[in-house]
Amino acid sequence: MPTSWEAVGVGTSLSEKLGGEVVAIVLGYEVEEFAQNAIEFGAGAALMGDAPELKDYRPEPFASVLSQVAADAEVLLFPTTGRTRELAGMIAVDLETGVIPDVIAIEIEDGSVLATRPIYAGKLLTKVICREKRPQILTLRSRAFARPEPDPGHTGEITQIEFDLGEIVTEVTGYSESKAGVSLTDAAVIVSGGRGVSNNPRLSPPPEITDEGEQEIWRAQQGFALVGELAKVLGAAMGASRAAVDAGYIPYEHQVGQTGKVVSPDLYIACGISGAIQHLAGMRTSKTIVAINRDPEAPIFKLARFGIAGDLFDILPPLTQTFRERLGK
Ligand SMILES: Cc1cc2nc3c(=O)[nH]c(=O)nc-3n(C[C@H](O)[C@H](O)[C@H](O)COP(=O)(O)OP(=O)(O)OC[C@H]3O[C@@H](n4cnc5c(N)ncnc54)[C@H](O)[C@@H]3O)c2cc1C
Repeated sequence: MPTSWEAVGVGTSLSEKLGGEVVAIVLGYEVEEFAQNAIEFGAGAALMGDAPELKDYRPEPFASVLSQVAADAEVLLFPTTGRTRELAGMIAVDLETGVIPDVIAIEIEDGSVLATRPIYAGKLLTKVICREKRPQILTLRSRAFARPEPDPGHTGEITQIEFDLGEIVTEVTGYSESKAGVSLTDAAVIVSGGRGVSNNPRLSPPPEITDEGEQEIWRAQQGFALVGELAKVLGAAMGASRAAVDAGYIPYEHQVGQTGKVVSPDLYIACGISGAIQHLAGMRTSKTIVAINRDPEAPIFKLARFGIAGDLFDILPPLTQTFRERLGK
């Protein structure tokens, strides 16, 4: 949700340059509070699609309603999430226009939005414009744009819209809680662990764990416990490399990178992560990167602002303790 307010902020600055009004579209069930929030964050009005059929997210009815509501918009902004990636594409097909995904900066050129987005796993930035078709559909990378301050005194009209849900062919049968903790994409601080978290030959697994694979998982649990302690003290989310996820050290929801989450926190601390291009693709726009790695030649040090060359099992406990004392936790 906070990234939606970033989109409202971008809409406000676009409307100052292009004219027009920022209208928030709020879909779901019993969502009036969110429509009110959108107004407080700067929207001039909110169109609300409130219906029991929209209680659970499903792409077909959401895309159908959005295509009807946004058909006449000049610009349609989404935060970049798994859901909006599919929705933006479906709406673009419905309205015969294009999509510019994962935008990190915008300018105006001849009355159209000129958007900057990373390509080739973040190695290059490209500028993309949709000159003729409308609406111009953009998804905005989380935390790439400033989040406006809410103003409870800001007013705007909230209108319940009429819509056709279209044909709904899927049904949500249930939910299960994810263990990911603090949301990675919203986190201001992320502490991540890689394959190096299992590498501590000084740790002896309990005698009942005799299988080598289980011993490795046990060592990784000790390493991730240190990563988790630091994350807890910093109020941070916990991330991971794909190697750590594939090895079964930690669930996929923590994975950062090309095939995981793309994050842009103020502070990213990489522990025992080599810095493969696919990992960097998910975190290179972090504002400050700190790397802890026992190999001084590890590629992650080329990107890191601060590097600590050493064993994470030696470094993390005193580092966490220092933060605990400084932050009074
Ligand atoms: C199509 C594709 C998509 C991919 N998507 C992703 C993705 O989304 N995210 C991702 O992360 N990867 C992704 N990968 C995998 C990527 O190429 C790397 O294999 C992976 O990032 C490596 O993870 P790692 O750095 O944890 O492991 P390694 O490369 O094995 O590095 C471990 C590091 O830990 C250090 N180390 C070891 N022991 C210690 C210790 N005790 N203390 C401190 N440092 C220590 C080592 O020096 C080493 O640098 C993808 C690959 C492909 C082909």
